Amino acid sequence: MRIGIGYDSHRLIEGRRLILGGVDIPFEKGLKGHSDGDVLCHAIIDSILGALGEGDIGRHFPDTDLRWKDASSIMLLEHIINLAKSKGYEISWIDTVIIAERPKLSSYIEDMKKKISSGGVPSGILSIKAKTNEGMGFIGKGEGIAAWATCILR
Ligand code: MG
Repeated sequence: MRIGIGYDSHRLIEGRRLILGGVDIPFEKGLKGHSDGDVLCHAIIDSILGALGEGDIGRHFPDTDLRWKDASSIMLLEHIINLAKSKGYEISWIDTVIIAERPKLSSYIEDMKKKISSGGVPSGILSIKAKTNEGMGFIGKGEGIAAWATCILR
């Protein structure tokens, strides 16, 4: 059994779509990033890579590589799930938390689970929670959104 942890944060900027867990969420800003900036998927990817001892997302999908420009993070997740499978591991459980002051995310969680299951993590082994940062720090000021993930591989 292996355990992994992942964290990611991205800056909120104007002129970008807000994609979280593969879901396009209506909001006046979106997350800046080389790919689609999906912090939830990136945290999940890093938790799996951590459990595999395979470094981090930047090693597998460098932001200097044009193949990953505006890439769907669900697709990146699929790559990493396949990497885990090729090493003989299966995901037992993933728990996550998204930290965003705005917008309210609770009504999108089921859609996120559906999208992430299309990337290879069935919704029955995935927990997604959403919370605010109580107005504190960069998240509280609406400058960015962060996510944490832990996973267990067997
Ligand atoms: Mg990221």
